[in-house]
Amino acid sequence: MNAMSTRAELQMQFLFALRSKGVTDARVLTAMEKTDRAMFVTGHFADRAYEDMPLPIACGQTISQPSVVGLMTQALQVNPRDKVLEVGTGSGYQAVILSHLARRVYTVDRHKTLMNEARKVFQALDITNLTAFTADGSHGLPDQAPFDRILVTAAAEDPPGPLLAQLKVGGIMVLPVGQSDSIQTLIRVTRTESGFEYEELRPVRFVPLLEGLGKD
Ligand code: SAH
Repeated sequence: MNAMSTRAELQMQFLFALRSKGVTDARVLTAMEKTDRAMFVTGHFADRAYEDMPLPIACGQTISQPSVVGLMTQALQVNPRDKVLEVGTGSGYQAVILSHLARRVYTVDRHKTLMNEARKVFQALDITNLTAFTADGSHGLPDQAPFDRILVTAAAEDPPGPLLAQLKVGGIMVLPVGQSDSIQTLIRVTRTESGFEYEELRPVRFVPLLEGLGKD
């Protein structure tokens, strides 16, 4: 943290950066203002928590860039009564933002280590409408389905079939798709009475959605 800047000043700059990158939805900005990113970044990268960049977390994964988190959350159009599934808990940052916007949030990650760390933060923040599981999220969460909203924060080649199946009619899923190491596209899928509508939103870069559980 820059010694010349107070935490409040850094937070102001953080929100300004979000707005300048197109995060304009008032509810999303309020949820992000309430969620202190420094709680989700450990080690020497904690000093950079308020910068608009992705940062490394355990298990070779990353906490996403805040403006991308904001744009994805905005694209998801979460309503206060929604039941939401997030695939790819990672640090838990995105899940906590969703918990401020939705009635109920389920989040899953394939790495137990990340899940344990994220759960500690959820407990410290006393968040009661968020449930986290260690699981392969490409199968969704059949016991809790169907969902109003699904957010995937790891890239698959195509939207996984089980996730499409677990989306309610009128529901929205936002996810990055494409080959894992090349440029991916953030897409929004809306389930209609008769099928699915697809919109391309922007180029993004995420870690790959992998099959099965992680070793740690
Ligand atoms: N949303 C996170 C960032 C996620 S990074 C945050 O706010 O910090 C992507 C995460 O997806 C990684 O933690 C990775 O372990 C997880 N992941 C990849 N494939 C997965 C799968 N099949 N099921 C569940 N999680 C998966």
